[in-house]
Amino acid sequence: MSKGPDSVEALPPLKQVISEFGLAAKKSLGQNFLLDLNLTRRIARAGGRLDGCHIMEIGPGPGGLTRALLLEGAGYVTAIERDRRAIPALEQIAAAAGGRLTIVEGDALKVDQAALANGAMPVRIVANLPYNVATPLLTRWVTPQAWPSWWQSLTLMFQREVGERIVARPGGKNYGRLSVLCGWRCTAKILFDVPPGAFTPPPKVTSSIVRLEPRADAARVAPEALEAITAAAFGQRRKMLRSSLKSVLPEPEAALRELGIEPDLRAEALPVADFIRIAQLYSGQS
Ligand code: SAM
Repeated sequence: MSKGPDSVEALPPLKQVISEFGLAAKKSLGQNFLLDLNLTRRIARAGGRLDGCHIMEIGPGPGGLTRALLLEGAGYVTAIERDRRAIPALEQIAAAAGGRLTIVEGDALKVDQAALANGAMPVRIVANLPYNVATPLLTRWVTPQAWPSWWQSLTLMFQREVGERIVARPGGKNYGRLSVLCGWRCTAKILFDVPPGAFTPPPKVTSSIVRLEPRADAARVAPEALEAITAAAFGQRRKMLRSSLKSVLPEPEAALRELGIEPDLRAEALPVADFIRIAQLYSGQS
């Protein structure tokens, strides 16, 4: 018998699933679950068009957001979960999803996500990310060699402070490596905040849903060059660029002057486009 969204709707409440499958939250896995289906459906809708799309979900846990994605009409969902305890609960959802859900047990940092996503449908990544691997995952999504990316959008839950770093513009304390890497290849926006009380267990801080869309016209530069330059510049963010870039450029002051960039500036004042020009120079030299 084919089972559609009605069957997903008929699944037992998440609270019951958590107790039935022994899914007490583990801090080491960054587990803060969302049990309110109204909220998870709102997050799913923030992911943009879902029908006809392949949604990649990282860390489905007991499956609150997974259910919401299916109920909101996702064409197909692939969910990657590291916690083996959650797999039987997720298989229960898969059984009700009429062939629209595949569960992959594994570490999202090690799994070849692009290969899993390979197919005819456009891919969107939607996730309530485990806070301990959220930044490395985002960095990977925005720094592949090939661009445009294999995904069409990222709709992700972060700690609010990380969200502010992603969308930051030059000139403030939030502007850093993540702002430059994301600003290089994406447009990014904080869509809405989610208070600690919405999670089980509640985290200490407010979270935010952030949406990133790839820029088709992102400047061409080797991602590792931009990563090296931003690491050096923001690694010593109180120093002037002529000093902080010494570890990556033999004569930073002359190089910056050649590019028309004031060597006495600090990293936090430098626009993304200037970081790109320095990285282009660096990769030409290395
Ligand atoms: N999506 C669920 C929700 O919204 O209720 C759970 C979100 S919880 C913040 C993060 C989830 O990511 C947990 O289920 C955790 O086990 C999983 N996780 C942690 N590290 C992971 C990794 N490296 N790869 C895949 N999943 C991971």
